[in-house]
Amino acid sequence: MKIKFKLTLAVGLLFVMIATLTTISAIYINRLSVDAKNIIKDNYNSVSYSREMLIALNNDISRDIENKRFLKYIEKEKNTITEVGEKELANNIEHNFNLLQKNTNDSALIQNIRKDITDVMLLNMQAIQRKSAVAEETAKNSIIIISVVGTFCFLIAFTLLVNLPSNIANPISELTNSIKQIANKNYSERVHFESSSEFGDLAKSFNTMAQKLQEYTSSNLEKLLMSKKRIETLINNMSEPVIGLDETKNILFINNEALKISGLKGEEVIGKPVQDIAMYNDLIRSLIQDLFKPNPLRDEKKQPLKIFANNKESFFEKEIIPIKITPTGEDMEKHIGDVILLRNVTTYKELDLAKTNFIGTVSHEFKTPIASIKMSLQLLENEQIGTMNAEQKELVNSIKEDTNRLLKFTGELLNMTQVESGSIHLELQPSDTAEIINYALNTVKQTAEQKQIRVVLKIAENLPKAMADKEKTAWVITNLLTNAIRYSHENSIITIQAIESNEKVRISVIDSGQGIAPEYLDKIFDRYFRVPGIKKEGTGLGLSISKEFIEAQGGSITVESEFGSGSRFNVELNSVQII
Ligand code: ADP
Repeated sequence: MKIKFKLTLAVGLLFVMIATLTTISAIYINRLSVDAKNIIKDNYNSVSYSREMLIALNNDISRDIENKRFLKYIEKEKNTITEVGEKELANNIEHNFNLLQKNTNDSALIQNIRKDITDVMLLNMQAIQRKSAVAEETAKNSIIIISVVGTFCFLIAFTLLVNLPSNIANPISELTNSIKQIANKNYSERVHFESSSEFGDLAKSFNTMAQKLQEYTSSNLEKLLMSKKRIETLINNMSEPVIGLDETKNILFINNEALKISGLKGEEVIGKPVQDIAMYNDLIRSLIQDLFKPNPLRDEKKQPLKIFANNKESFFEKEIIPIKITPTGEDMEKHIGDVILLRNVTTYKELDLAKTNFIGTVSHEFKTPIASIKMSLQLLENEQIGTMNAEQKELVNSIKEDTNRLLKFTGELLNMTQVESGSIHLELQPSDTAEIINYALNTVKQTAEQKQIRVVLKIAENLPKAMADKEKTAWVITNLLTNAIRYSHENSIITIQAIESNEKVRISVIDSGQGIAPEYLDKIFDRYFRVPGIKKEGTGLGLSISKEFIEAQGGSITVESEFGSGSRFNVELNSVQII
């Protein structure tokens, strides 16, 4: 039953009961009052009139006043006739009184009248007695009926008083307890109320909610566990070593491949601080070196790590990926850990080595025939052997140019193989910078002249000697000058400057040629890189080899350029300080 209906019914019932009780009481009180009124109004008045008539009769009826009194009350009596026979008696009294008026001393007549009046009185008194018995009966009935109805109402009101509040309050307190249980994550909690009331609907909704929450948490947990398992399996099956760290640098996970190359056991390391593991494991130590630097240069070009794994030497490229998340409802990113990834580059390394060896062998093999071609050309030019006509001379010159180019290219390739195989042989010695510059200048002199380019030399006085490999540095400066000439316009000026700066010797090659666009500036030292759209011949190897040569000597090479206005290449070498 609905609570609203229950309350309406209870209040309605009380209302009906009160109304019934009031109506019944009113009816019975009214009845009692009618009974009493009847007695007083008719019978009592008749008795009173009779008494007045008797007094008048006893006093002296011949007196006018008593006569009138008698007539007045007989008249009134006639108007209050209520009982059977009363009317006849009243008429007799009136008739006899009229006779008495003619002879006021007729005692027999007076006797008759007195008897009739007494009869009227008796008749009315009997009626009073009878009617008061009726009234008494009515009163008795009223008490019984009002008591019965009152008791009935009391019982109903008492039942409502006992049942109704608990009927409403109990489900509410049960529901409150269940809500508390749900708040405490006890999602198996259910409520059971009478299904037809509003509480039944509430219980149904509550139980559905609890069931859904239970389903949601269990399915979510299951899903989470499932995806965790999936990710763990995926990481474990990765062919490359992976180590996961939390924000406090404790090891969260380490896959089978990482365990294999480090020689560690999962249960030994998981949950432990990585620094502790690094104390006794060399590989982990070298892996986490950068991790504790305040600002590790993540883009820094690093040499692959050489690790002895799978019974052979393998090469791995290390990458540290910081894991950042933005927590729900927050704006700031939060660092929650790092993943150390090792990429197995052994195959590429082996291929690279094979390529380097191949290029090295080929370019080495090329050198001898090219040298012999050059020698043959020199012999051809010798007039003692024979003279050539103009066309033949032109052909020989062209072959000479191509041979030179071929020789330069094979030279560059050979240098590159040296750089790649890490076998640059340096002969570091205190070297005169001017000597190196002049050597380079002599090499490019002819080419500059061909383009009518003037090379200005600005060598500072008292320049200290540079700690350098003369031959390699000269090669670098030659390369820079060749580029400057190649990418400069005809009739322009190229400046070679040599100064001392911060205990270093700085050689700068400055041209006013086409310059380099800013987006390519950080790429021009990459191997085989050439600015797109460049039509001039070249290999894209010169600057990368130059960088390797200079860095191998402990120096540095940088570029500054304004697109369209020229470039400036700076080579800095350690100077030999005279103590
Ligand atoms: P290349 O054999 O192509 O000259 P380099 O390694 O010496 O190879 O140079 C790489 C690229 O850098 C060149 O292709 C050219 O686009 C650009 N470059 C080098 N030097 C200059 C310069 N002085 N002026 C303009 N561009 C230059």
